[in-house]
Amino acid sequence: MNDDTIRRMWDHMAELHQAELIHKPDALEMKIIAKALDRMGIVEHDAFMQSFATTVGLRIYLPFEPGDLSARCALAQAKLCAHEFQHVVQLEEEGTDFMWGYLRSGAYRAIKEGLAYTCNLEVHHWATGELLDCEELAQTLEHYACTEGDIAVCRAILRSAKVTVQDGGILNRSSREVISFLEGEGVQGRQQKGQLDRRK
Ligand SMILES: [Zn+2]
Repeated sequence: MNDDTIRRMWDHMAELHQAELIHKPDALEMKIIAKALDRMGIVEHDAFMQSFATTVGLRIYLPFEPGDLSARCALAQAKLCAHEFQHVVQLEEEGTDFMWGYLRSGAYRAIKEGLAYTCNLEVHHWATGELLDCEELAQTLEHYACTEGDIAVCRAILRSAKVTVQDGGILNRSSREVISFLEGEGVQGRQQKGQLDRRK
């Protein structure tokens, strides 16, 4: 997976969902949100601006240029791409209820993030044949103003998805779209290779 493939993966997904990719450090609205979250003690300003991608509606704010492999490796970008576009899918499926639910309720946020982090599990497993640590993924929600109970919900979602992912199943639409794009570019996931080997 080279930088050109990864840049085109982002563009392909943006086109598919009619979404917009925005460079987060240039976005005034993100700087305002970063200050507010910092003051509320939810997440530090620099961490929000530099470490997290943020999806609001059909706008995906990335803290790096798509395809810049010096900022994030190809696999990290593939996982992030599936994750962020799963939030776009959630918006497509639930409309404004998704936006309100996500903003207002930590429990709702935990469910939606649990499902989006399932994309991280799926793409990682497709690429490497390995399973990510569900506990570690769920703990990321500490930065999303979620309670311990919310985090437990996220953990439960990931643990139940893990069984399917382990068997090679892909539950999320955005993961299927990212994987299908990459396979179309000739990128072979280990999982796919394993299946082909078994058929011989
Ligand atoms: Zn998310």
